[in-house]
Amino acid sequence: MKKLILASNNKKKVKEIKEILKDLPIEVRSLQDENIDIEVVEDGNTFEENAKKKAKEIYEFLLEKGENNFIVLSDDSGIAVDYLNGEPGIHSARYAGSHGDDAKNNEKLLMKLKGVKKEDRTAKFVCQLALFTDAGKYYKVTGEVKGYIIEELHGEGGFGYDPLFFYPPLNKTFGEADSEEKNKISHRGVALKELKNIIIKLI
Ligand code: IMP
Repeated sequence: MKKLILASNNKKKVKEIKEILKDLPIEVRSLQDENIDIEVVEDGNTFEENAKKKAKEIYEFLLEKGENNFIVLSDDSGIAVDYLNGEPGIHSARYAGSHGDDAKNNEKLLMKLKGVKKEDRTAKFVCQLALFTDAGKYYKVTGEVKGYIIEELHGEGGFGYDPLFFYPPLNKTFGEADSEEKNKISHRGVALKELKNIIIKLI
């Protein structure tokens, strides 16, 4: 069976992607599952540059190892707040300084939006996916979802900025939504739904 390698070390992101792709007849494996200890430096200027770089480095590593019958998928994502001119954007994971400190990142975002009115707190989550095949082909897909940033954390589900991201159609934050609800409409869910059509043709 063909393997899909997820080029990410973010455990919660990996869990979400595995859940969304579970109906595909392909073995979905994380870097950790494969004992690959590579942390790709995300120094691109856009989500797309970073997503492509992550997938490409892992793809090249696997080729060099002599692997075949695989595809590599990466996800570069983040939140863009309109009032902050798109910040934290590509810097979402390390907004407050250290990579992946969700609590500190949320604290910083709340501080930056202190006193800002509800109608000016609009934001979107962006998910940029990059896929490399063992035949050297590259595919990309973007997913976005719009909502706004509330004034305090609500809910403990999901990860990252989920407890601050209020999604009006659900009338709750992504942190309050269960994983099935979130995955149906999230930036990642939407992008992966589109990418599934491509993956099916590659299997
Ligand atoms: P990346 O691993 O460089 O793509 O960083 C993604 C960062 O964006 C995460 O660390 C989170 O802070 C944020 N992020 C991306 N997707 C989500 C999501 O679905 N919910 C909440 N935060 C997210």
